[in-house]
Amino acid sequence: MSWEANVRRVVPYTPGEQPGERDVIKLNTNENPYPPPPGVIAAIQSIRAEQYRLYPDPDAGRLRQALADYHGLKKEQVFVGVGSDDVLALAFLTFFNSGRPVLFPDITYSFYDVWANLYGIPFEVRPLRQDLTIDPSAYMGGSGGIIFPNPNAPTGILTEPEDVESIVRANEDVVVIVDEAYIDFSGGNKSVVPLLARYDNLLVVRTFSKSRSLAGLRIGYALGGEKLIGCLQDVKFSFNSYTMNLPSLAAGEASIRDDVYFRKTLEKVIETREWTKQKLAELGFVCTDSQSNFLFVSHKRIPARELFAALKKAGIYVRYFPRPRIDNYLRISIGTQAQMEALTACLQEYLNQY
Ligand SMILES: *Cc1c(COP(=O)(O)O)cnc(C)c1O
Repeated sequence: MSWEANVRRVVPYTPGEQPGERDVIKLNTNENPYPPPPGVIAAIQSIRAEQYRLYPDPDAGRLRQALADYHGLKKEQVFVGVGSDDVLALAFLTFFNSGRPVLFPDITYSFYDVWANLYGIPFEVRPLRQDLTIDPSAYMGGSGGIIFPNPNAPTGILTEPEDVESIVRANEDVVVIVDEAYIDFSGGNKSVVPLLARYDNLLVVRTFSKSRSLAGLRIGYALGGEKLIGCLQDVKFSFNSYTMNLPSLAAGEASIRDDVYFRKTLEKVIETREWTKQKLAELGFVCTDSQSNFLFVSHKRIPARELFAALKKAGIYVRYFPRPRIDNYLRISIGTQAQMEALTACLQEYLNQY
């Protein structure tokens, strides 16, 4: 018998392309177009060569405390990991163990089914409504757990906190994970972090990759009740004690401290998002009401696949998902104002020739 018969076979997640060329306009992985604040770079540069000899703090105590202070929680309610993908993968392993199917939307972050398949966790998808919103009534109990992003990806549509609460309340026998990767772009108080005071089955997952301009350092975290977070810690320490490296720990802490820069950057992205939305509507695109740092758009006449190819040829990378229900949409990350002007000019030119 071949060794191949004993291998765990998986279909991996496909991340957006990271093109090698420098002059590409990269709007395909929802990175922040603005650099992190100067304090973050200073924090990394202040690490002495000598310090790299030693293992980093396995408890990530300072970063966890900084995040706890920021959110008004206790350090014991904060878990950190190598990007939120790492946090989410560990959360699947830790919390989805009932044997009953885990639920998530049919159109959502395409890593969820990959982790479920990797761990052999049964799952069922629940269709989004016709208007691509999440239907809370489809998640009212009897499952092995629930996960969805808020705002959802790749639609960008926000589920109101009251609706999220109704889901959490109806599922107190399982863990409900709300992936708030894009919540900072929804302005105002749409996060369900305040619900943590009332529900011990809720886990909120966040990332530094989008709103905090630190995709390259891989920092993610989860907030929850002390018990829930303790369970995650136990699984992490059964896997790899030192997930967070020295520069990431220092940078994460520095990022949390500069709230002024953070808010300024958010405002710029949101302003450019609204400008782009308006401009694309004028060009005949239909946009979802995105509360994130990307737009999900469909043109009235021209197939998305064709626009995707035309943009790529012009050196503008966006994301296209050839999947049922969304194969006529493009997901376009919000870049700088100048990048979005280049995008809309390119589309305008293509439409003129069509
Ligand atoms: C980007 C993204 C993540 C992963 O972010 P990390 O870079 O791993 O922190 C998780 N969930 C959603 C919905 C995302 O869009």
